[in-house]
Amino acid sequence: MAQIDFDLIVVGGGMVGASLACALKNTSLKIAIIEAFEPNSTQQPSYDDRGIALAYGSQRIFESMGLWHQLAAHSTEISDIHVSDRGHFGVTRLSAEKENVPALGQVLTARSMGQVLNHTLSQQNNLDTICPTSVISLKQHDDHVELILNDDRSISAKLIVAADGAQSTIRQLLGLGALEHDYGQTAITANISPERAHRGRAFERFTDSGPIALLPMSDKRCSLVWTVKTGDESTLLQLPENEFLAQLQDRFGYRLGKLKQVGQRNSYPLKLIQADQAVQQRIVLIGNAAHSLHPIAGQGFNLGLRDVAALADVLADNTNDCGDPRLLHDYAQWRLKDQDDVIKDTSSLVTIFSNNNPILGHLRGAALTLIDALPSAKHVLAQKSMGLNRKQPRLSRGIRL
Ligand SMILES: Cc1cc2nc3c(=O)[nH]c(=O)nc-3n(C[C@H](O)[C@H](O)[C@H](O)COP(=O)(O)OP(=O)(O)OC[C@H]3O[C@@H](n4cnc5c(N)ncnc54)[C@H](O)[C@@H]3O)c2cc1C
Repeated sequence: MAQIDFDLIVVGGGMVGASLACALKNTSLKIAIIEAFEPNSTQQPSYDDRGIALAYGSQRIFESMGLWHQLAAHSTEISDIHVSDRGHFGVTRLSAEKENVPALGQVLTARSMGQVLNHTLSQQNNLDTICPTSVISLKQHDDHVELILNDDRSISAKLIVAADGAQSTIRQLLGLGALEHDYGQTAITANISPERAHRGRAFERFTDSGPIALLPMSDKRCSLVWTVKTGDESTLLQLPENEFLAQLQDRFGYRLGKLKQVGQRNSYPLKLIQADQAVQQRIVLIGNAAHSLHPIAGQGFNLGLRDVAALADVLADNTNDCGDPRLLHDYAQWRLKDQDDVIKDTSSLVTIFSNNNPILGHLRGAALTLIDALPSAKHVLAQKSMGLNRKQPRLSRGIRL
């Protein structure tokens, strides 16, 4: 019988892969992470300066993993969310106080999340980090999977978790198809310093050139995600600071007073990618490798973290053969509805709010006013944005969906 090196190999040590390895720290599983970059490399694509809005449900998952305390030190609370549509009457406001929760969510940079996750991994006894390296090929056997790395090394495990991002190498090596939809939009991100204090308010403003999100951050800054038509980003990225701020001010308005300073600007082309299947034999795809979303509602990582919580729960209870295909099948069935719902909701938002049709514009305005006036509708929206509307069982290890 072949010698099997690990119980589990996670390919990709980004936000989702690293979270899974952290969630399994108190198990008897022997784990390896394979990552293309060194842990604190500035090249690491998952851990850049983008602000990540963590839903309240994600905060609770990190609490269950014992990581929230460290993440909280880098996070800013979202106490209110203000949704508006430029040029149309109508606003919806959500508030933590009305929802009876301490905060609707939290914002921290992907970079600080990476620091916390990598620090936790560095102290984990059941983990080997193999980097920088990548997978060249794989062979699936009945009881294990063998990976060949780019230095010709071969390593094997009972289970492979592909958390290697939207362009997943593992998905491609498996020949798995994926639904791909190019939105023809690009997100520009930057940190902005406004004149007025954000006071924990997050703003989502829909405009005829794409949605703008300004999220509260540390040091009185706001994290900007400005979605524009692909092609328009190159001018905006190159504009001098004052002209960029003037254009943003024109689109966003004066709810935060004058926008005074902008940090480094980055851009991300936006595509929906959804793998045709999340599981094949002893291999499972999670996070962006399984579903990469438009950031319009800030749900991508939150969804990936719920994959992590569910998979960690299933694996921790079955350490004998954690790659048993029946387990993975159960995991995939369990996660299907949440994944489909979030993908559908996100795509509908992009379609409804990226449309310049004036009739649709008036309907949007009316809908925002109506939601604002209806506490029950507001509650449903708030629960969705907090990642709490999923009727999922509480997990046995205390990790909650
Ligand atoms: C502008 C923008 C704003 C966003 N805002 C939010 C938000 O507010 N809230 C939210 O929930 N989500 C948000 N998201 C989504 C979030 O960034 C993603 O869901 C998240 O990054 C997915 O993490 P991941 O680990 O699955 O993939 P990635 O972050 O892509 O990480 C993949 C990892 O795998 C490694 N890798 C890749 N290929 C290989 C290989 N062959 N071998 C070894 N390693 C490999 C990479 O180096 C990387 O470390 C946003 C996204 C964008 C673009």
